[in-house]
Amino acid sequence: MPIFEYACSHCGHVFEKLVLTRNQDLPECPKCGWKRVEQKFSAFATVGATSKSAGGVCAPSGGG
Ligand SMILES: [Zn+2]
Repeated sequence: MPIFEYACSHCGHVFEKLVLTRNQDLPECPKCGWKRVEQKFSAFATVGATSKSAGGVCAPSGGG
């Protein structure tokens, strides 16, 4: 089943919600009740997903 991940732009709470219909209104944050949540991406029960370490490659060019 399509499980969409949402991230609250207010408190930063990330929660998943099962979406039955594509044309569904964005849910509200279950933590603070914020309506403006950002839809991340659909995940099909991704358990044990390896995430890259935070950070980026240091470009040779740079100032400051
Ligand atoms: Zn929230």
